[in-house]
Order: sequence, then structure tokens, then C-alpha cells
Amino acid sequence: MTSFDPKMMTSPSRESLTAQAMHAIDAATGAVIPPIHPATTFARDADNQLIGETDYRRPAGPNEFQAARVLAMLEGAPEAKLFASGMAAIAAVVESVPTDGHVVAQSEMYYGAKALLQRAAAKGRITLDLVSPGDTAALKAACKPGTDLVWIESPANPSWAIVDIAASAEIAHAAGATLAIDSTCAPPCTTQALSLGADIVMHSATKYINGHSDVLAGVLATRELNDRWAKITEIHTRTGAIPGAFETWLMLRGLRTLWVRFARQSETAMFLAEKLSGHPALDAVLYPGLPSHPGHAIAARQMTDGFGGLFSLRLKGGYDAARKLASGTKLFIQATSVGGVESLIEHRKPIEGPASPTPDDLVRVSVGLERAEDLLADLEQALAPAQG
Ligand SMILES: *Cc1c(COP(=O)(O)O)cnc(C)c1O
Repeated sequence: MTSFDPKMMTSPSRESLTAQAMHAIDAATGAVIPPIHPATTFARDADNQLIGETDYRRPAGPNEFQAARVLAMLEGAPEAKLFASGMAAIAAVVESVPTDGHVVAQSEMYYGAKALLQRAAAKGRITLDLVSPGDTAALKAACKPGTDLVWIESPANPSWAIVDIAASAEIAHAAGATLAIDSTCAPPCTTQALSLGADIVMHSATKYINGHSDVLAGVLATRELNDRWAKITEIHTRTGAIPGAFETWLMLRGLRTLWVRFARQSETAMFLAEKLSGHPALDAVLYPGLPSHPGHAIAARQMTDGFGGLFSLRLKGGYDAARKLASGTKLFIQATSVGGVESLIEHRKPIEGPASPTPDDLVRVSVGLERAEDLLADLEQALAPAQG
């Protein structure tokens, strides 16, 4: 395979390099698409030197190295690592916090990540403070000298609250903490969190990065090759929570169309959010692309190539109206997850459970690649009963 050339990071563009998976031409055959390498072990030469980049597939084989290079290029990172899921990537960051380390996270964030942190806190492994997403004053008050990790998520699932990454980095760094961000809903084609000051950026690649609802994977990328990254690298290698070669290959295939998918999904979501604003059955349309969204100005700064395909609707008719909307669509599929090519709709409260701060009346929408007018017509017909 063509080896990575750092010159390629600025020219041609990241978009062009993504489309070609950084010239992933197979040197042995000229195949334009890289082969799948299921091998778990790799031969050495007569001098006992590695022939390729690795001797064993935990932590990475040729497909994982290639995908990690593309992701590192996209993030402007010196290095990225692939995990078996977004949660496995989050678990590695949590594991890197020393015993009794202080973590500040968000009261509203991906519920699985919050549960993982709360579990570590309940066992006395870490101490944990939660602050409202985007409340920089509360974040500043919660961080104290010696805080180990600040974990943010922007846009925050499912209200799409926007967190100022640069301001959070300043606060975290003043306390001596590492700033990690779950940027799953703002993939690197629109937000480069590391260049805004984040130390670690995490993605559930299950979502936009793969984009086809057929791979479970996670990513971490680092701004610097520092002690934190060395710890995470060790955890990655020792725990072996890595994706399979086929999953990695599929992910790299999906990743090649990230820019065009995200642009179309952003465009359609903006169209739908605008058309649905003021709908008589709705209390609110939560979408960072709308100027009425409280985080819009910050989102416009840190989401440079689109606000994404995710928005939420709050229904005047409460829980029951939300139930009816989510089960009344014909084109939108009632299913969990986000960022795929098929549009999904979900009533979040019954999924997240009674402890979740998500309101009863909230329906989350993930826009895929169907025609915008078809999606609008579907939402309008499903909202009609709620109009009364
Ligand atoms: C899905 C998701 C995760 C978890 O990722 P998995 O790949 O499902 O383990 C974490 N954060 C956000 C924002 C997500 O949407």
C-alpha cells in the first residue's frame, strides 16, 4: 500500500484524500480498493525484522492501520486508534483516569457514556461532577486543580445543545485536565475538535463515519503523543477491543463518502427543520442550524461544513403524541442510532429510561439520503393526528 505522506495533509484537500482513502492502492496488484487482511499474524524476514507494520493483529493489522491513518488525517492528529465500538473507545479513556481521579462530564450526554462514568464513580474508582452542556461558568466552577479529565459532547444527544470546544479546552487546561470530546454527531468533515484545543476526540464510527448502519466501531484521535495517549495505547493493546478486519474494511468503504453524505444530510435536515418550525403540533424544533437554537452562533463557528442530519422535535401533546409520531411514519424507520443513509425516528424517553433528563415529548430524527420532500411529507402526515 502507498505509505502515508504528511505533505498530503494540506494538498490535496482532506475531502479528496478521504474519497480515495489516501491513495489506498494495493502495491502488489494495483487494485484501486485495498484488500481485506484477516490475518492475525505476520511473518518476519531473515533478519527477524517485520515485513509489514505489525507482527500480530491486536492492536492493528493492515486494514486498521490504513483506516486509522485516514481518520488521523481527517482530524489533523498525529495518531488515531480504532476500537470495536464507540463505547469501547470511551471505556479506554475512562480506564486511563487514575484511581480517585476527578472527572467532569455533562448532565446531558450520550446515555451509555454517562452510565459508564456513573458506574465508575459508584464503585469509588473516580469522582464525578456533571454540568449542564454548554454552561461554561458551571464547567469552570466544577474544574479544580488536579481534575484529570473533562468529557464533553457537542452537539449533545438528543437536545443538540452546543458546547464551545475552545472555551472548554481553556477551562480544562487551566485545571491541568485533559479535554476529551465525543464528536460523533459532528464528524471531522465539519468539526476538527483537536484544532479547537481538544486533547482527545472520540467518535462512534457506527454513526456518520461508517454511515451505513452495518458496522459497529469507535475511534480515538489525539492532538499530541503525550502520557495520556501512551496510557490509552497500552489499554488499547492490552484489552484488545478492536474491530474485525472486515468491519474495518467496510468502515473505510463507508468513510470514503463521508463528505458527500454529510453535506446532503445537513441540507435535508435544514430544509425539514425550517419547514417544521412553527408547526401547530410542535413546541420546538431543536436543530443547531436554526438561528433560534441557543447554540447556533457557536455551532456556526465550530461546525464549518454543515450542522448535520440530526434534530429533535418536542410535541405539544407530550408523551403520547411523541409515541404516535415515532410510530406513525411510513418512510422514516422507527429505530435507534443516527448517521446512516436511511432516515430513522425514535421516541427517546422509553429508550433512555426514567432517570434520563430527556423530556417525555422528545422525538429524535436522523436524516438519511432520501428525497427531502418525501421526508417532509412523511413527517407531516405522521404529525397530522397530533394537530387535533
Ligand atoms: C452511538 C453513540 C455512542 C456509542 O457508540 P457505539 O458505537 O454504539 O458503542 C457514543 N456517543 C454517541 C454520541 C453516540 O451517538
